[in-house]
Amino acid sequence: MSIPIALATPLAERAFISALDLFRVGIGPSSSHTVGPLRAARAFVAALDGRLDDVASVECVLFGSLGSTGVGHGTPGAVLAGLSGLEPETVTRDDVERVVADADRGMLRLGGTHPLTLAASPAPVPGTLRATGSARTTEVESGWLRFAPRELKPRHPNALSLTARDATGAVIADETYYSVGGGFVERDGDERDTLEAINVPYRFDTADELLRLCREHGLSIAELARANEAAVRGETATSAALRAIARAMNDCIDAGLANRGTLPGGLRVPRRAGGMAEQLRALDAAATRDCSLEWLQAYAIAVNEENAAGGRVVTAPTNGAAGIIPAVMRHALDVIAVPDPDRAREEFLLVAAVMGGLIKSNASISGAEAGCQGEVGSAASMAAAGFVHLLGGSNEQIENAAEIAMEHSLGLTCDPVAGLVQLPCIERNAIGAGKAVAAARMAMHGDGTHLISFDTVVQTMRQTGDDMSRKYKETSEGGLAVNYVEC
Ligand code: SF4
Repeated sequence: MSIPIALATPLAERAFISALDLFRVGIGPSSSHTVGPLRAARAFVAALDGRLDDVASVECVLFGSLGSTGVGHGTPGAVLAGLSGLEPETVTRDDVERVVADADRGMLRLGGTHPLTLAASPAPVPGTLRATGSARTTEVESGWLRFAPRELKPRHPNALSLTARDATGAVIADETYYSVGGGFVERDGDERDTLEAINVPYRFDTADELLRLCREHGLSIAELARANEAAVRGETATSAALRAIARAMNDCIDAGLANRGTLPGGLRVPRRAGGMAEQLRALDAAATRDCSLEWLQAYAIAVNEENAAGGRVVTAPTNGAAGIIPAVMRHALDVIAVPDPDRAREEFLLVAAVMGGLIKSNASISGAEAGCQGEVGSAASMAAAGFVHLLGGSNEQIENAAEIAMEHSLGLTCDPVAGLVQLPCIERNAIGAGKAVAAARMAMHGDGTHLISFDTVVQTMRQTGDDMSRKYKETSEGGLAVNYVEC
């Protein structure tokens, strides 16, 4: 039994959130502060279609959380990459470094073709463009770029404006965008949640409705989710896209386990995943004990070290929390024998995405909006759901596992040291992955009956995020971010 709740916001018109909206290949270190701004800048350039040659200058303002931690999260470089026409799915670290180096010399190719001179900085602002460890509390201007951490837009704490002018200084285009978490972007003036309204066979706005639909139609959550995805792009394309996402997740783990050295940004955080993997291989060879949970941690750390280094990661559902779902999915296939691993990965992702879509619709997956409960909490909840599916659990046990993982993430704050996605983020993903596995295992020992429903916990997460001080929502103005003293 679970206690149904009335949701505070009208949901009937909500668009379908696909697994491929939640899981997207991009670059680190942040979906909201890197991938979202890159997409916003690309959208701005696309809207200039036909007027590109008239543009003589471009200005950008980063408001609120983007202004506070944008430097540590690589936001200026992401904006430059987007203005240069680069795509989040294919852009490389080298590409971003190249456009940043050009911008340091006052050069930009708008849309990749139209050359512009960027307004020079009136005074040098150290680390303005590169991802260096610094969080801003006061307004800073650096030529074409202004950081306005104290200016908050009512719609979302992650806002940026872009202005294009002609040679006389007249405004050609002036847009404000919101990076609402997970790489999703909304333009000011558009309706919230600009996802395409797509007809899918099974519509649900709460987990309660999801479970009822599954019961009525005799479907597992994975089957229902697959039917909805297939309505969007067909069964074969859905399958191929999910397999590509799973491959990208595994590639990211492998890259993180292989790479060594120190992470960029100035905190001198050493990479740990590779060293852990070496030790675990030796322990596995000795076969004296089961190391699967330590491998789980190494996988999560590997992904988040790649993310912190600006590498290629899958947003799941954000970059800061990108390690949990790949780690739990790989762990699941380490410990469970499945007849078709590719099919199992697809189903894991489908189930995880259903729960993530509910969290995004009814609360938030944005650290700037809900704190880390919205990022690591959401990822742990999604991963727990996917793991229970592969363990052969029922729909009710899946809902229970997702609920447990989220319930015990409530109140988790976002306080990245120096505005970088490193401390506490990397280790927190390892702990989040462990929480997901524990929640799944615990749910498997019940029959899915429980008192506090997933919907109740998601509603509680939203309210807790609303009540949380701004200091703990991706501003680096509280918590570890102010108490950590660099030696
Ligand atoms: S503390 Fe959590 S929410 Fe904040 S940047 Fe790190 S992973 Fe993201």
